[in-house]
Amino acid sequence: MKDYEAVVIGGGPAGLAAALYLARSGVKIALVEKLSPGGQVLMTEEIENYPGFPKPVKGYELVDKFVEHLSAYELARHSDEVRSITAQDGGYVIQVGDETLQAKAVVLCTGARYKHVGVPGEDMYSGRGVSYCALCDGNFFKGRTVAVIGGGNSALEESLYLARLVDKLYLIHRRDEFRGCKCYQSKCEMNPKISILRSTVVDEIKGDPFKGVTGVTLSNVNTGEKSELPVDGVFVFIGFEPVASFVPAGLERDKAGFVVTDCEMRTNLPGFFAAGDVRSKNCRQVATAVGDGATAATAAYAYLESLHA
Ligand SMILES: Cc1cc2nc3c(=O)[nH]c(=O)nc-3n(C[C@H](O)[C@H](O)[C@H](O)COP(=O)(O)OP(=O)(O)OC[C@H]3O[C@@H](n4cnc5c(N)ncnc54)[C@H](O)[C@@H]3O)c2cc1C
Repeated sequence: MKDYEAVVIGGGPAGLAAALYLARSGVKIALVEKLSPGGQVLMTEEIENYPGFPKPVKGYELVDKFVEHLSAYELARHSDEVRSITAQDGGYVIQVGDETLQAKAVVLCTGARYKHVGVPGEDMYSGRGVSYCALCDGNFFKGRTVAVIGGGNSALEESLYLARLVDKLYLIHRRDEFRGCKCYQSKCEMNPKISILRSTVVDEIKGDPFKGVTGVTLSNVNTGEKSELPVDGVFVFIGFEPVASFVPAGLERDKAGFVVTDCEMRTNLPGFFAAGDVRSKNCRQVATAVGDGATAATAAYAYLESLHA
């Protein structure tokens, strides 16, 4: 069993920031990441809203900067998947692949994932016309035509946001009735830029290797009628879920499963912190993930100090 003072789980922006702050404080830490460090940023073509980068920065370039910064400090790295975390003897036992780690403090930074529609073309054109984040990518579609898939509050709210930027927006919903709140629904219905296609599903996202997305193939679920719709982008808003199936028993989560923290990133379990997209909050961005990571590391350091007092 490998023993650490703190273990940071997840090497996205939140985890890399938490690891940097803890390593700089001289804490004996390990960073566990199952893939290459970077998290969702590696799925992002360009980032335009991270302070300090006035010109758009490629996702992988921003990750390289984070990793380079962290490489100046001493920490252990485990490149495997965390399978379980169990509270034991005032600390936590973490199963990572075939290895077992032990720590007094854990910072959970395992992020979240957008639910996918699972149609042909979705993965191929992800980041090249297919997007899951209006705030991040809406600006790339200024004056163009997009499709939005979904029928809940996030699809309606994001459609209203996107309609301020785009020339034309098709809101595609598989049911006749929307699940989202009536106020957003009527705003969408009244917006001249938004056309609502009810009882309609997307069968395929079409594209061109050079241009990215060029259109979608649709089916009417009542009549079976097929049609083609030319669009420059497709935004998918059918839900977002935390990556947190392996957390300790008794950890407080919200209705959607996100981990509940206070403003210091402390959870209801002593010595257990959560930062970034995995926690319950409204704004899920690189800047907020980095801020959460720094805050969680500071709270984890204070917790470790309190054990020695
Ligand atoms: C397509 C796209 C575009 C975006 N564009 C922007 C943008 O322009 N601007 C912006 O600010 N934000 C953008 N975002 C959002 C931003 O990327 C996220 O808010 C941010 O990456 C969250 O950081 P995080 O560290 O909390 O989680 P993540 O980035 O999700 O990182 C979590 C890490 O944990 C690891 N992990 C998960 N489970 C385990 C496990 N069991 N064991 C070990 N490791 C594990 C994962 O492999 C991953 O590396 C975008 C997101 C997407 C998907």
